[in-house]
Amino acid sequence: MSKGLVIVLSGPAGSGKDTLLNRYFKFGSAKKTVSVTTRPIRPNEIDGRDYHFFTRERFEKAIAAGELLEFTEYAGNYYGTLFSEIDRITAAGDDVILKIEVIGGKNVKMRFPEAVLIFTFPPNAEILVSRLKNRGTEDEQTVKKRLAAAENEIEAAKKIYDYLIVNDDADDAARKFADIICARHAAMSENIDFMNEVEKNVK
Ligand code: 5GP
Repeated sequence: MSKGLVIVLSGPAGSGKDTLLNRYFKFGSAKKTVSVTTRPIRPNEIDGRDYHFFTRERFEKAIAAGELLEFTEYAGNYYGTLFSEIDRITAAGDDVILKIEVIGGKNVKMRFPEAVLIFTFPPNAEILVSRLKNRGTEDEQTVKKRLAAAENEIEAAKKIYDYLIVNDDADDAARKFADIICARHAAMSENIDFMNEVEKNVK
């Protein structure tokens, strides 16, 4: 049968990725990697659950040691995915979700061409801007950096990503996310071993 998938979920800050995933985890079985970052921890976050919070020095050591599948600098901080996170999840036979920005998505696709790249965006740009401004967890300068990043993300996603989920209602978006995973598992290209096996046995 088909093996575990590598699924990338991207979308600008304020696109609702976290809510989508939280709803998905209520019924879905794919597991999310815990990324490494150098950005400051937010009050509601826990080290090791939301991110592994590294100093720049420690992050750069991890890069030098080849521990990262992908990494990038986003809004002034490093973010990256440890190989060990992919191994941890695939070893248990689960599909892996990477909630990362688009440069990371592009790098994952280069490494795993069969990875599924999903982009999410609110129904219109005004919603994104107001969500970002009203979030209250970042200062004005950071909000500006994130809006500039959003423009680049949309541009990159058009070229590289496989699917778009318009994130209007979180439950509906989570269902679409699960449907994409389900369809991908059913793709003929994912099931060649099964087909070869049954072909042998019908003769
Ligand atoms: P935040 O600071 O809001 O948690 O995340 C900022 C951006 O970094 C988001 O788009 C998030 O998906 C992305 N991000 C989080 N972890 C990683 C990672 O491991 N690699 C890459 N490339 N981006 C990441």
